[in-house]
Amino acid sequence: FGFKGCQKIRGPQIRNLLEAKDFILFDCDGVIWHGETAITGAAKVVSSLIRHGKNVVFVTNNCTRPRENYVHKFYRLGFTDVMLEQIFSSSYCSALYLRDVVKIRGQVFVMGCDGLRRELQGGGRPLRGGGGRDVKAVLVGHDDKLTFLKLAKASCYLRDPDCLFLATDNDPWHPLSGGRILPGSGSLTAALEVSSGRKATVIGKPSRFMFECISSQFSGVEPAQCLMIGDRLETDMLFGSNCGFDTMLTLTGVSQLEEAQEYRDSELAANHSLVPDYVVDSIADFLPAFEE
Ligand code: PLP
Ligand code: CA
Repeated sequence: FGFKGCQKIRGPQIRNLLEAKDFILFDCDGVIWHGETAITGAAKVVSSLIRHGKNVVFVTNNCTRPRENYVHKFYRLGFTDVMLEQIFSSSYCSALYLRDVVKIRGQVFVMGCDGLRRELQGGGRPLRGGGGRDVKAVLVGHDDKLTFLKLAKASCYLRDPDCLFLATDNDPWHPLSGGRILPGSGSLTAALEVSSGRKATVIGKPSRFMFECISSQFSGVEPAQCLMIGDRLETDMLFGSNCGFDTMLTLTGVSQLEEAQEYRDSELAANHSLVPDYVVDSIADFLPAFEE
């Protein structure tokens, strides 16, 4: 029982770490961009990794857009060599879960954005966002058009114990500029958990399912070859630990170094899964690693 983790690393140590890893998994918001603004140096880091032959994938809990929209966003923000196949969002993984894991036959009642609904339709299944007597699953995610009626309907469908209860992610909130916050999917999941008396199955980080989606599409991924880079301890670092990856916290987002150190020094063993192996100030700290 040591006080391992939270190792601040730079130049040559980052280079050694990257040399040892074949798969680099990036969280998006807080790591490579803030909303619509790329983090300085991030686009260069991503393209350098790709040029050096690394498998780079993006693992985001943002369920509000289909993957096609992400390709455009990446391009718009200067990440010009990112392709659809590299993007794993909680909406895309929810579509895979419904199609391939539970092989849903009836309808899915979606409490979420239009982008989530579009992603589900892309999954090649007749997943109508509506409702009706044939509802076999309720999927809750960030919903910018939430109404009390939707919450009431979803709660009613969940009275049926055969109706699955899924959440794209359980993120509590997200930072906006100027100190404001955006309530996350987790706040809606919580409402529905209370009204239904049930617990949702979470698809996004920290659930291991996102890694199953990645390994089903990239053959031969070994956890020991993977590095997960994120900004939130409770989702990204826990996801990495759950999957057996090395983890890195970047300090451009939600979580602070002090919180990571508190988890590290905590006597509660479960908290140690939230501790990053490595810490950097910003992804831009990778840039010297690519210089000859
Ligand atoms: N969900 C929503 C609705 C968001 O706005 C954000 C971040 O802005 C996220 C999730 C978190 O995304 P990520 O997992 O890329 O940090
Ligand atoms: Ca993030």
